[in-house]
Amino acid sequence: MDYISLDLEWNQAYPEQLEAVQKRLGTRLRGEVIQIGAVKLDAEMRIVGSYSVIVRPRFFRHINRHVARLTGITQDMIDLGVPLPEASERFRRWCGEDYAFLTWGPDDIPMLEDNFRAQRVDGSWLHRVYDLQKIYNRQTDGSHKQRSLEFVMEQFALPQNLPAHDALNDAYFTALVAQKLDVPRGVADYDKTSDFSDGVLLSDVSGDADVGAKGYRTAYEAVHDAALNEPTCPLCGGSLAFPERTVHMKGQKYLRMMVCPTHGKLLLDLRVSRNLNETFRVRRTIRVLDEETEAKLRARLAEEGAGGRPRRRRRRPRAEFRAEAVAGSVPADNE
Ligand SMILES: [Zn+2]
Repeated sequence: MDYISLDLEWNQAYPEQLEAVQKRLGTRLRGEVIQIGAVKLDAEMRIVGSYSVIVRPRFFRHINRHVARLTGITQDMIDLGVPLPEASERFRRWCGEDYAFLTWGPDDIPMLEDNFRAQRVDGSWLHRVYDLQKIYNRQTDGSHKQRSLEFVMEQFALPQNLPAHDALNDAYFTALVAQKLDVPRGVADYDKTSDFSDGVLLSDVSGDADVGAKGYRTAYEAVHDAALNEPTCPLCGGSLAFPERTVHMKGQKYLRMMVCPTHGKLLLDLRVSRNLNETFRVRRTIRVLDEETEAKLRARLAEEGAGGRPRRRRRRPRAEFRAEAVAGSVPADNE
């Protein structure tokens, strides 16, 4: 298997334009890829090839001046760039058949996926992605810090003799760092390297219409979806008891205590947010319930019990969201 270190440069829209385009497309698009850079390493971690392409943006066509200054990519360059569908096809051919991507940090692949979705380009081949930053952390100090590539290169005494913020150079730097690590072992251990620090056992998102899922029509529906709020134990798969009802905390946060006969008290944490198309999504986290949180939860339950206002708990989020939706809306058809 080959390893492909990948880096992207993307153009940033100005805020009004960003919101208008995302609403019009109904999909998340925080920036538009203007350069793909990649370096291929073989199974022995030898550099065997490189790839770079300047991509012509379709929605944010004017180069952001900060991006231009940082990357050295000019308006003329992107005007002459390759449209994304074609650039992606060429890149995919260059990648070959048996490969895994290495990125420095978690941002590049989601950005590329968002760009693909916005232009209906197939992104199924972006499977097998490893964040080298995590492998680095695990194989060095075990921290969860997000070290810059620059920092790590210095640590490994790698010469930084090419300008940074060029996708190809950064992909090359990433490849050099990869050579200093045990990547095959890092990949094999990767799933055990989950970012789940601080006792998080499960974390997922449902109803994210911004990335193509079907959103919930209301925040209420989202929070009360049994598929979300009645999970099994992430540790043993066994069924859980729910001794208390779900409580609404500040903002769009809902907590529920759960008990596994084997693993004890767990906490279900649901956070609702609004999608671009006015539907709702939920980020769900399950963690071990600590005493402090349990105390807060019980206080809130007692408060709700004493106040006798179970209806309020249901109604408030919807009202808040309506207000927010109106305040945040922007005409969707002026780019
Ligand atoms: Zn369990």
